Amino acid sequence: MPFSSLDLAPELVHAASTHGFTPPTPIQADAIPAILRGADLQGQAQTGSGKTAAYLLPLLQKLLSGQRQRGRRARALVLVPTRELAAQVGEVLRSLGSALSDPPKVAVVFGGVSINPQMMRLRGGADVLVATPGRLLDLVAHNAIQLGQIEVLVLDEADRLLDLGFAEELQRVLAELPAQRQNLFFSATFEPAVQQLADSLLREPVRIAVAATEANEPAITQRVIQVDAGRRTELLRHLIQTQGWDRVLVFVASQYDCQRVAGKLYKNGIYATVFHGGLSQGARTQVLQEFKDERWDVVVTTDLAARGIDIVQ
Ligand code: AMP
Repeated sequence: MPFSSLDLAPELVHAASTHGFTPPTPIQADAIPAILRGADLQGQAQTGSGKTAAYLLPLLQKLLSGQRQRGRRARALVLVPTRELAAQVGEVLRSLGSALSDPPKVAVVFGGVSINPQMMRLRGGADVLVATPGRLLDLVAHNAIQLGQIEVLVLDEADRLLDLGFAEELQRVLAELPAQRQNLFFSATFEPAVQQLADSLLREPVRIAVAATEANEPAITQRVIQVDAGRRTELLRHLIQTQGWDRVLVFVASQYDCQRVAGKLYKNGIYATVFHGGLSQGARTQVLQEFKDERWDVVVTTDLAARGIDIVQ
């Protein structure tokens, strides 16, 4: 089924195809018509399923109709758990939006960087606001943005929002929103706490679950190797060098371990660096970009990088 049969405006079908989105992924095929009809949505989908475009394309279409935002208001709010995901969603949104004859105003806000440029950006409101909850509440408290006229709310990676302890902030954000709105709820898992949150938000939702298939799950071989604790990094180095691996994410338990392991690899001639929550936002963005650009062979990280980050191959 092509994008053109999903009730999307021709401009958006074109935007999808210029991004190489052909044909629609299963979640796109199911979600796009439902969202365009105005339904609430509960989507079980992971990074890699195409879920971002599944909600952004119909969202952009809804924004094409109706009045552009003025004042300090926003029309659509996308809440995400991490700064990296906010930046990534913002990028896709800007890129898809730029294919439109009248691109929407997009604002991306997250903590860890100065609030002032974000306040400036929000002057005159935003059509779509992509935000992490804490910084969003700061901006609301500064009266930089008002959420009382949000037409569509998207929760992306809702399970991760709860895992990261955003439940209370989330409730405070929800209290700022109008009762009448469309809600799109995406999560990789639906444990009881996540389902409870979904049930409290969604009205007669369309439910979509994307099964993990070969197409949306890359071929991953899992292997366990038993090794003395003191020789783990040595083994890792051996594997990286003998297997010729050059795009390696290494997960360790703490920021301290990141530094230690990356330091040892680097000393042994392997281009390794760290990615964790102790780095400034600027440094985090730079490491990810450099990893994508293949400037680093190995990035040693904590669970900060465990979800939501899209790095090809
Ligand atoms: P997501 O699940 O939203 O994180 O998207 C994962 C990746 O799939 C991104 O790199 C997208 O550019 C890509 N993608 C999204 N939709 C499609 C599609 N219909 N066909 C091919 N690739 C897609």
